[in-house]
Amino acid sequence: MANKHVYSYGAGKAEAKGEALTKNVLGGKGIGLMEMTSIGIPVPAGFTVTIQTCEEYYKLGRKLPKGLEAEVRDAVIKLEKVTGKKLGDFNDPLLVSVRSGAARYMPGMLETILNLGLNDKSVEGLAKKTGNPRFAYDSYRRFIQMYSSTAMGLSKQPMEDMLHEMKHELGVKNDPEIPAEKLKELCDQFKAFYKMNKGEDFPQDPYKQLWGAIMAVFSSWEAEKAQTYRRVEKITDLKGTAVNVVQMVFGNKGDNSGTGVCFTRDPNTGENTFYGDYLINAQGEDVVAGIRTPLKLSRLQDDMPKAYDQLCAVRAILESYYKEMQDLEFTIEDQKLYMLQCRTGKRSPAAAFSIALDHATKPLLTKAQANDLVKKGYLPKKWADLAVKPVITKEQAVGRISSDDIERLFYPVIDTTKITPSQLKTVRLGSGINAVPGAASGKVVFTAADAERLGKKGENVILVRKETSPEDVGGMHAAKGILTATGGKTSHAAVVARGWGKCCIVGCEALNINYETHSMVIGGKTIKQGEFITLDGSQGEIYSGEMQLKEPELPAAYYTILKWADSMRTINVRTNADTPYDAVNAIKMGAEGIGLCRTEHMFFDTEERRLAIQEMIVAETLETRKTALAKLLPFQTNDFYGIFKAMNGFPVTIRLIDPPLHEFTPKDHAGIEKLSKITGLSTDKIKHRCEQLHESNPMLGHRGCRLCITYPEILEMQVTAIIAAAIKCRKEGIKVLPEIMIPLTMDKKEFTVLKAQTKATADHLIKQAKVTLPYMVGTMIEIPRAALLANEVAEEAEFFSFGTNDLTQMTLGLSRDDAGRFLPTYVASEKDGGYGIFRDDPFQSLDQSGVGMLVKMGIQLGRSTNPKLKIGICGEHGGESESVKFCHRAGMNYVSCSPYRVPIARLAAAQAALADKAAKSSKGKKK
Ligand code: ADP
Ligand code: MG
Ligand code: MG
Repeated sequence: MANKHVYSYGAGKAEAKGEALTKNVLGGKGIGLMEMTSIGIPVPAGFTVTIQTCEEYYKLGRKLPKGLEAEVRDAVIKLEKVTGKKLGDFNDPLLVSVRSGAARYMPGMLETILNLGLNDKSVEGLAKKTGNPRFAYDSYRRFIQMYSSTAMGLSKQPMEDMLHEMKHELGVKNDPEIPAEKLKELCDQFKAFYKMNKGEDFPQDPYKQLWGAIMAVFSSWEAEKAQTYRRVEKITDLKGTAVNVVQMVFGNKGDNSGTGVCFTRDPNTGENTFYGDYLINAQGEDVVAGIRTPLKLSRLQDDMPKAYDQLCAVRAILESYYKEMQDLEFTIEDQKLYMLQCRTGKRSPAAAFSIALDHATKPLLTKAQANDLVKKGYLPKKWADLAVKPVITKEQAVGRISSDDIERLFYPVIDTTKITPSQLKTVRLGSGINAVPGAASGKVVFTAADAERLGKKGENVILVRKETSPEDVGGMHAAKGILTATGGKTSHAAVVARGWGKCCIVGCEALNINYETHSMVIGGKTIKQGEFITLDGSQGEIYSGEMQLKEPELPAAYYTILKWADSMRTINVRTNADTPYDAVNAIKMGAEGIGLCRTEHMFFDTEERRLAIQEMIVAETLETRKTALAKLLPFQTNDFYGIFKAMNGFPVTIRLIDPPLHEFTPKDHAGIEKLSKITGLSTDKIKHRCEQLHESNPMLGHRGCRLCITYPEILEMQVTAIIAAAIKCRKEGIKVLPEIMIPLTMDKKEFTVLKAQTKATADHLIKQAKVTLPYMVGTMIEIPRAALLANEVAEEAEFFSFGTNDLTQMTLGLSRDDAGRFLPTYVASEKDGGYGIFRDDPFQSLDQSGVGMLVKMGIQLGRSTNPKLKIGICGEHGGESESVKFCHRAGMNYVSCSPYRVPIARLAAAQAALADKAAKSSKGKKK
């Protein structure tokens, strides 16, 4: 089995079973074709050469492995039996397409050759047999074109030019208008061109053609555009592509034939409507390549009602079978429908939510719609029953949303509070098809290379092209937005941009690009490279100039699904917030408390505050220091009051001062003079004091709780502010739950000293105020020693919060601020010029094996002496999906992250809980 290279399918059956029936063996396209065949959907017969064969091909130095030839010949014989036609038959030839198909979809990156099997003799046979010489020669000229460029490496342009020239000569616009004898002439021109460049005749032996095509598909795996795509998409786990050999069906046979691309739902809004484009009398990539403007799928209902009904039935079957929105490719030959591809479709972020919601709550078809298709004989009863019910559970809906979906929901829109509708009208240049929502503002560039070059410099650019091709992906990725003159919603630009959630407008017919002069004309205006434009991808509108963007309104489905997630998760999600404003925002995002309030941020806010802290720092005596601190007290008290009020009873963890003092000192002469005036100290003295504060390794220096160990009066001021604010709230009837957090603890004794001071200050105030005010004192675990001695620390601390930023720095001995210089080489895979030492940046995604070990140890040791210990995380990692899932598994009570990452954490926590549940129930079953 391991050495089996080829799997056949056809006539309702597929050969691949069990382990062979996976994407990693057959590729996405191959498995889709086989599954569709097995469930009774009309698919032309064929066979698939495995991805492992492609791997072998490269191992052998680009040679086909031994034994493959015999297997392929066997598969061809089987195919001949199923189809009743023979490869190379002069009278009624079997024709096939040779198609790529990796485990994951790479739109247009790999090659396809259609109509293989045609030669000078069989093309005549095909013409006679079908009575349609125009069709036969159109197929042949397409085959020669594709084979010459894809398998034999000839440039595409010369033959395209010949085709163009021919149309020009005939005075026709579209390919189908070229008559048979002229197409025949074109084939002769193509073959002559081939011979001139290759020094031999165009291959006439179908098996020779087949080997060439198979190798061409394998080779396309390492073509530059495919490599760029994988780099940009961070695809590192794929080994190669399968080859799909599929019997040809013909959309170019006449006006009863056609070809199209569709989605089972609208991929932009998620709306339950059948969505797509098609072309009459066309073949293959014609729709995607934007050669002619495609027709809307809804028109097919009038053009070819039978085929349309068949397609509607396929839509219902496939959504029920895959329980996902499908992206489909089909061809209609003489009114009969054939499916050529299915895959789970890419969608906009808003659509991701509405589709998941619909799938969990609503059926695809109404009973009437389903019955109609059943009556017409297109939809088997068994599938009709499924199509009138929701296809997934709420849990599955929550499991399906990714953190990217959430992140992209917040993509910007034009800030209409900054520009009036009438102002917008005056700068409007034109409109196109709104392919991918979101807005983007940037400088116009006309080549992918320029987009990459300027993008690297950090400039915002908009890539403007007639159409994009797979070669452009690098530049498309670097651009903030993409605008094309041609193409529909299923064009290359739209599909690729949708995958990234990148603003994209296509099919802007009013756009005229002049690549030579690096300029474009639109709406009567000429815009040169480097000038600003703004795209509104949601409306499809194009404006001149740079505009302010803002966050969009969220779709209703987002709120519903996150509510579901909240009901499923078992850990809390808090936020890191330093101001009342952040706190209010975070509550809107669903935060259930503050896990980290960095008090020092309050010192930077205004000049008055900055001066007060500076005064404290340069103070020479305890007394003057206390005077300065007294100035800070009201600011801090007020801020804490605002935060408590916003959090309305949710717990608030406040960290005492953390950074080294030199971070607050005046940085220029004017600052020093001002401070001198206030304090009466000479500028020299101030300068001297600032220099004194200089440390050679401040990250490991006089910071964190070490500051309060030497300056207890700072702690006293901060605790006073916290407790005074809490008392004020209590008196006003607002619920508060302060958690005072000591940073950078490394020892139980050290913690005990500070806890005692904290309690003394707090309890005194509470007693004076005659209120009951529960509060907690705990610590951050961010020094490895604290994690190692967590059992001791937990005897005193009431809670732990893992500060994984510092913990990562100290465990890895890696400074976060300096690691940028070399970390990329550690993270990049070997293929991309790195070493793959880390799978991810450890400052973004928690190093679960190393730092994670300390976290798990800290939790276990801590709870061993203090079972009630409350535990959370407050590093950046608290908002990263994989890290959140780790925190759930490690047994934390909550995660805390910046406000805009709160929804991501809510979702990840729910997914972790669901995974837990699934693991437990499968364990139960095994017993
Ligand atoms: P891609 O991976 O770029 O989508 P495909 O292998 O799907 O490339 O081929 C592109 C198009 O060629 C298909 O959408 C379909 O229209 C056409 N095609 C491929 N195989 C056949 C076939 N056997 N009969 C008719 N058309 C085909
Ligand atoms: Mg395809
Ligand atoms: Mg820290």
